[in-house]
Amino acid sequence: MNLSPENHFKAVIAHAKEYGFVFQSSEIYDGLAAVYDYGQMGVLLKNNIKDYWWRSMVQWNDSIVGIDTAILMHPTTWKASGHVDAFNDPLIDNKDSKKRYRADVLVEEHAEKLRQKADKEVSKAAQRFGETFDEGLYRQTNPRVVEYLAKADALMTRFVTALEAGDLEGVRQVILDEGIVCPLSGTKNWTEVRQFNLMFGTKMGSVAEGATDLYLRPETAQGIFVNFLNVQKTGRMKIPFGIAQTGKAFRNEIVARQFIFRMREFEQMEMQYFVAPGTEMEWYESWKAARMKWHHSLGFSPSKYRFHDHDKLAHYANAATDIEFQFPFGFKELEGIHSRTDFDLKNHESHSGKKLQYFDPERNESYLPYVVETSVGLDRLFLAVFSTAYQEEELPDGSTRTVLNIPAALAPIKAAVFPLIKKEGLPEVARALFQRLKREHYVVYDEKDAIGKRYRRQDAIGTPVCITIDHDSLIDGCATLRYRDSMEQERLPLDAIPSRLRELVSFEGLLE
Ligand code: ATP
Repeated sequence: MNLSPENHFKAVIAHAKEYGFVFQSSEIYDGLAAVYDYGQMGVLLKNNIKDYWWRSMVQWNDSIVGIDTAILMHPTTWKASGHVDAFNDPLIDNKDSKKRYRADVLVEEHAEKLRQKADKEVSKAAQRFGETFDEGLYRQTNPRVVEYLAKADALMTRFVTALEAGDLEGVRQVILDEGIVCPLSGTKNWTEVRQFNLMFGTKMGSVAEGATDLYLRPETAQGIFVNFLNVQKTGRMKIPFGIAQTGKAFRNEIVARQFIFRMREFEQMEMQYFVAPGTEMEWYESWKAARMKWHHSLGFSPSKYRFHDHDKLAHYANAATDIEFQFPFGFKELEGIHSRTDFDLKNHESHSGKKLQYFDPERNESYLPYVVETSVGLDRLFLAVFSTAYQEEELPDGSTRTVLNIPAALAPIKAAVFPLIKKEGLPEVARALFQRLKREHYVVYDEKDAIGKRYRRQDAIGTPVCITIDHDSLIDGCATLRYRDSMEQERLPLDAIPSRLRELVSFEGLLE
């Protein structure tokens, strides 16, 4: 069934709650904005995604090791990293709707609308001209397309220049000159633009006067940078090498919407790759390609992913791109890939007074390594998988089913075992198989309701296979496997089932 993107997203959120994937945090107190909890199914899916990332990055990569650093760090860390001074979002309020927006998001969305207008012209022309259509030429020469694209570029250049110069009045002027209105009130009645720091502060120590001001880390990367030499020396690592970690990060996001897409407490999976100065662009390109390939390995359509190179570089980067994913609310950042130069190590050296240089035996010299970072949000990846997997299907017999086509290796429950009926020796055989499979995988046993109903329950949580024991099983020692996606059935000897299941849900399956 074709739901509109908006209704699809609503159905996704409702389904996530109904089946124990994601709950609003502290719901009985009416919730805490932009903070979420993962339920009994959600935690399994989330752990599987994390596990697949960790294996791909650490276990299968000879040059990368993993660590796990603390959320609380010495406060000078955030001076050195630039977060105290520069981790800000420019805010603007609409006086009529009283709604608060990120100025950069308003302007970028406006530029995107102009680009979409150009795309519309192009696709209209493509239809008109048919096979003879030369899209490249049309984009370069059609006056209307050229005008829309030039407008979008000029707008972004003007905006980025103002923002980088810290000219907040200039930023506001761009919004006014472009006639950007509040989507809610439809008016241009804007306040001044202000900068707002996104870090959460907290205090350490028992007495108020002696307490130290700390921050909850806004990214996991700094835990890696400050441990760079510890890992390099104790692991006898040679450049190029990487350090990976997963963990919570906290940002006091102003505009927190879209379910678990933008949260105030979230989880990152980051990897910093340390390379020799001058080689960083090669590594940047190669990590861009490797990460895109990894996303494609999940099996969703490659057309759902695209690169978006940054116009405005973060304070630490000399090149940056996002891997964007087509969420139900449009293409949005899923992962960031940044060439961070030696910005972080250099600043930690100067703020700590400790040398962080690496001696390169091949070059016979010491230097501060350059860094290429890949940083993906675990919750965003969860949302990408969950929202794409969610389908309401119409079946040939006219009935419908809700199914989560989660890649089998990531599915929370790998198999469900059913006795066809609750008596005549079938439950005993089914339970024995269940006990055997459960040592290796998350599996469930279910004997309630008709078999069709039991299939639907498993489809709704994404279980890739259901295994039914019937009367014939007692005679031939076989069971029926029914597959989630194709709904096809296969009869296999009980003894062959563990290896069949292992093969079906293995991470290697994704790599192929
Ligand atoms: P955005 O532009 O969406 O705010 P960002 O560019 O600030 O994201 P990075 O600092 O590059 O994000 O963080 C790396 C990754 O961490 C992002 O690609 C995203 O997947 C994830 N992430 C960042 N902020 C959040 C958040 N508030 N909630 C959930 N995930 C987040």
